[in-house]
Amino acid sequence: MAVFDIDYTLYDNPDYNKVGDQREIEAVAEILGISTAEVQARQAITREEIVRAGRIPMKTETILALGITQGHFNELRVKVWNGLPRRYFCKDSVLCDVFEKLGQRYTVVFGTNSPQVIGEQIVRAVGLKTLLPRAVVFGADSFPDAVKPAPQFFRRILDHVMVNAYQAVGIGDRAHVDVLPAIAAGFSGGFEVSGPSELPEVITQLLHAVR
Ligand SMILES: [Mg+2]
Repeated sequence: MAVFDIDYTLYDNPDYNKVGDQREIEAVAEILGISTAEVQARQAITREEIVRAGRIPMKTETILALGITQGHFNELRVKVWNGLPRRYFCKDSVLCDVFEKLGQRYTVVFGTNSPQVIGEQIVRAVGLKTLLPRAVVFGADSFPDAVKPAPQFFRRILDHVMVNAYQAVGIGDRAHVDVLPAIAAGFSGGFEVSGPSELPEVITQLLHAVR
């Protein structure tokens, strides 16, 4: 089984994230009754605190620190990102070509910190849904209390897909989110990629590994 991150792994489109992130901040500001500048200032303080504590800050953590629950954040994200993937992505033929080969040998799964439905919209927009109709997407709202970078997120995927940990690998653009927690969950390894341009090489290596 190969578990792929979605954001900045299957695509590289800063405009998409810029628009969605801005909508997200506006929605959070509205809920809290403060300005977007204040939201960003508070996020910056949380980020500094996390860095001082020796950890790598995650956006979700800076939002939860504002007093918004994970459940509420997920709901809000479904609303603000809904429909954006269709507007910003189109079928990626190179990606489809390599995933078609991978799909013949591996169970392909997608694991994202976006809500599941948004992850599905992206997978569909880049052309992978048609190609891999059975590939499951797991998102930040798929399991209670298990979002990346918690190793538990990857353990839950193993339980759900019923695959042994040693037969699983994790692939994504952030080692501390997509690879190391997967290994902590027992996965046999993983790849950190800088973006979709590195996926053909990674997928070729995965195919050689099972030959
Ligand atoms: Mg990512």
